[in-house]
Amino acid sequence: MKQRIIAGNWKMNTRRSEAMLLIESIRHGVDARQIPSSIDVVICPPFLWLENAIEACMGNPALHRSSRSTVRCGAQDCHHEASGAYTGDVSAQMLADIGCTDVIVGHSERRLYHGETNALIARKILAAHAAGLRPIVCVGESAHEREHGATRAVITQQLDELVTGAGSAALNSCIVAYEPLWAIGTGVAASPEQAQDVHALIREQLTAVGAASTPLLYGGSVTAQNAPSLFACPDIDGALIGGASLSADSFLTIIDAAVSAWAE
Ligand code: PEP
Repeated sequence: MKQRIIAGNWKMNTRRSEAMLLIESIRHGVDARQIPSSIDVVICPPFLWLENAIEACMGNPALHRSSRSTVRCGAQDCHHEASGAYTGDVSAQMLADIGCTDVIVGHSERRLYHGETNALIARKILAAHAAGLRPIVCVGESAHEREHGATRAVITQQLDELVTGAGSAALNSCIVAYEPLWAIGTGVAASPEQAQDVHALIREQLTAVGAASTPLLYGGSVTAQNAPSLFACPDIDGALIGGASLSADSFLTIIDAAVSAWAE
């Protein structure tokens, strides 16, 4: 069964009360729908709201209490070491301990504002796997790189360095998100043709290292309006959604588009 994923990245947004309302609205919306098990819904709130989100969506792992809902909860980042003197950081194991299932690694905002390299991101993939989390690994080119015809070279290099650092087997148990930097938060999504072109390249490269079935998400200004045409692309298996995941209505409409595209 091919796994599809609709994931929301809330970034550093929401006050506590807003977050709780949003979690409840998404959970109710998902529970009210018939979402096949081949489609995962994941929300990635800020660290501080994660435990509440997990309790609302999945139950309380410490009390072995589980909820009926199928909304998974992921973090937006984790540290590459298991523990130690890393003030302010959060390990993958800590996330797993509270019941997180997924973690975004290598988001372009982490690469840009925190200097994260492919070598470091590869270590985060390994740390996530060691803790039993599923990494959502982001790759993507800048506007400048695309304008200079370097998109394919940039993506190839990112994947090569991730495979070198984490090993090809690790990429087999990841989700890869193609997120062109020029599309993130700009309101200008890649066209389905542009996205499919890069997804086909990523598929080809992952197939060459034995990771043909790794789900590939598109991210960058996905909306309720453009989701259906993106989901019609053969190598797009879901979406990583920023802005539109902060509204329960638009996030649920994107989930509906996924169900229409992929329900078997
Ligand atoms: C993101 O940051 O992962 C993202 C895709 O953001 P947006 O949907 O707002 O472009």
